[in-house]
Amino acid sequence: MGTKGREIVGMDVDELIATLNHAFADEWLAYYQYWLGAKVVKGPMKDAVASELLLHANEELAHADMLALRIIQLGGEPLASPKDWLDQTHCGYDAPTDPFVKTILDQNIKGEQCAIGVYQNLLQMVKDKDPVTYNIVLTILQQEVEHEEDLQALDEDIESLIGRHS
Ligand code: FE
Ligand code: FE
Ligand code: MG
Repeated sequence: MGTKGREIVGMDVDELIATLNHAFADEWLAYYQYWLGAKVVKGPMKDAVASELLLHANEELAHADMLALRIIQLGGEPLASPKDWLDQTHCGYDAPTDPFVKTILDQNIKGEQCAIGVYQNLLQMVKDKDPVTYNIVLTILQQEVEHEEDLQALDEDIESLIGRHS
């Protein structure tokens, strides 16, 4: 751990590490949900959706990477076992058991909306207290906002393709 780097954090560092580990759990679960969703997705525009899901999977993994590095910098330990992910997640895990494209999109939109809330709270928590974590969280938040919009845009395209026969 970097002693001076830890010293300049103007808040309870152990509490910060615990919060970052909850987000770390979320990112691994989001990664897996997207990764598996990309494999199983069926229905209109499935190829376009699958490539976007895979792209997002890789971005969630990069978020996990950023969080793990920051946790280690602060002298903490990233969650060591996958079983900790379900115990410590904020946003949970929605298994892609129904492969229909709109169901998969809905599940992941819900996940992104939860992530946006989590990172917005984290940003407020570290604001004026830890600029290094602030910068990491802001980067992640920007990408979660993009993810939500990407998925909602795909969902709209599918809607206009299949139409609303009511
Ligand atoms: Fe993420
Ligand atoms: Fe995301
Ligand atoms: Mg995208």
